[in-house]
Parts: sequence; structure tokens; C-alpha cells
Amino acid sequence: MAKAPDILLGLIGKSLGHSLSPVIHGAFFDELGLSGRYDKIEIAQEDNWASRIDRLAQDGYVGLNVTIPYKLDVMPALPDLDKSAVLAGAVNTIRIDPEPVTGFNTDGSGLAEAISKMNLDDQVSTSGDLGSAMILGNGGAARAAVIALSSLGYKGLKVLSRKSQSAQVMLGDILNGADRLSLKENCSNALVCTFDQLSGLDTGAIGDLSLVINATPIGQKDDFVPDELVRFFEQIGDKKKTFVDLVYAKQPTPLCKVAQAAGFGKVEDGKEMLINQARLAFKIWTGQLPDGELARTRLNEMA
Ligand code: NAP
Repeated sequence: MAKAPDILLGLIGKSLGHSLSPVIHGAFFDELGLSGRYDKIEIAQEDNWASRIDRLAQDGYVGLNVTIPYKLDVMPALPDLDKSAVLAGAVNTIRIDPEPVTGFNTDGSGLAEAISKMNLDDQVSTSGDLGSAMILGNGGAARAAVIALSSLGYKGLKVLSRKSQSAQVMLGDILNGADRLSLKENCSNALVCTFDQLSGLDTGAIGDLSLVINATPIGQKDDFVPDELVRFFEQIGDKKKTFVDLVYAKQPTPLCKVAQAAGFGKVEDGKEMLINQARLAFKIWTGQLPDGELARTRLNEMA
């Protein structure tokens, strides 16, 4: 009889067919020489998350990732929430063993690690100022970006959103849970603007912009990029600026192509964030932090 894996992990969500997480975590097990398995656990609908998680625990799962559409739904069923989950307002990682079952969110710190690895030192002014950053979107990934950029020391955040009220709600939510001064200041002082206000932004508002992050699904399902965004990228693009698209794909994403054509110096898609949020989740479950090189190689081989 085949020996059961020592470490049983899984991903709960809906429509998981294209998820790369099993490849990434499989690579982590191999990199660290651990015996384990990472399963996709498709859940069509769930009315009782506490008993579902209890059943998964009885089946031997010690850790779970949570993805769309359940990142918020699972929260009330968890006996304990780490500060990362409270701040993000969502759970992407559940630690089942040891008790108490605890929810975490590794998206913000995963994005911060991904940006740190881009070595953006050449953007730092002689006074040590990183410049400001613009975040597109006001959903879960945008929240992660506000948290990540504040922890990295970016100031003067700009949030670009279809509806300014949704962006204000997001910033207010984060502010409510924030205890670090840099995060509080960024949430209180962020400039919110809508797509149709982009062309009217004056140089005072965008003069020190060094980083733009897309946290919307623009470019995920098709190649459509709003005209006002293309024009804005053309207006601001230069070698000193960086664009990070949280959307990821085998080929360069539509927005990465627009940023490259507009002359941004560094352009990256969301694979590195994906790997880094997974590294941090793996450490929560196993106590060991993979460096992720094997996962990068395997993702590239799939391209
Ligand atoms: P979400 O919570 O549903 O939020 C989506 C946001 O995008 C909302 O602010 C929404 O604004 C905006 N939006 C949607 N369609 C838009 C459009 N056509 N034009 C302009 N804005 C639009 O989703 P999420 O979890 O934040 O994810 C956003 C993207 O990030 C997804 O593509 C996801 O795959 C990616 N992501 C990547 C990683 C990674 O590890 N790389 C992690 C998390 C998410 P409205 O309020 O106006 O609808």
C-alpha cells in the first residue's frame, strides 16, 4: 500500500481548473525534500464552513489556501484570525494544525516580497525617497497593494478606480484596522481618482510617481485596455518607472505590453507575487520557507 503523504495541504475555491498553486506547492515540497500533497478542493457552495473545515481537518489536512469566491465567507467560521487577515479583510491561508484553526492573509506580504526582489534601488532619490505609487482597483488585491506599499515605505499613494466611493471605502476599512503609522498616513492622505479624471491629473499629483500596480482584472480575460489608461501610461512612461501587473499569464499581459511600449524601465506580471504569497503560506503550515527557485523554473517550463 502506498504511504500516505506526511503533509496534506489544499486549495478551496470554485473553478480551480487553471490554478497554478498545486504546481508551486509541489515544487516547494520537492525543494525542501518534504513528503506532502497539495490538492484542489472544488466547493460549489457551502453553508456551514465550520463543519466543512472540521471535516477537512479529520481528513488530515493541516493547511488550506482559500481563493475566489470564499476569501471572505470563511472568516466568521475561523476560531482565530491573524492580524494580516483582519487588515486585509480576507483570508487566503488557513492553518488547521496546531489549534486553534487560524486565518491569515499572505497577499500583502507576498506582494511586498515580490517588489523587494525587483531591486528598485535605482528609483530611490539621494534623500532616500522611494517616490509615490499608484494602485489601480479597490478590491482584495488593491488592499494587499496598499498594505504592501506602505510597509515598503512608499508615500503619497494614488488609487485609481472606476468609482471613487469604492476606493474611499477600501481606504477607510484598512485605516480602521491599521496600527502602523505609515499605513494610517497612506490611507488618510491617498489621492483617489477615477479613470475619466486621469487626463486632468497635474504634474504635482504625478510628478514623483515611481511605481504603478494593476490590481484590477483588466487584461485577464481579453486584450482590452481602456484608452484613458493607454494614454496615461504614454504620458508618464519613462525608464525610472516600474509597472507591476497582478494579473499573470504565460505571455506578457496586455497591460505589461502597454507599459513596455510606453517606456517603463521595469515591468513584471503577478507570478512573483503568486509565488511569494505561496512561500509565506507554506512557512505558516510547515515552519519552513522555500526560496521558490524550483517553483519559478516549473512555471516557466509550463509557458
Ligand atoms: P476583486 O476583489 O474582485 O476586485 C477587482 C477590482 O477591479 C475592483 O476594484 C473592480 O472595481 C476593479 N475592476 C474590475 N473590472 C474592471 C475593469 N474592467 N476596469 C477597471 N476596474 C475594474 O478582485 P481581486 O481579488 O482584487 O483581484 C484583482 C486582480 O488581481 C485579478 O485579476 C486577480 O487574478 C489578481 N490577483 C493576483 C494575485 C497574485 O498573486 N498575482 C493575487 C490576488 C489577485 P469596481 O469596484 O469598479 O467593480
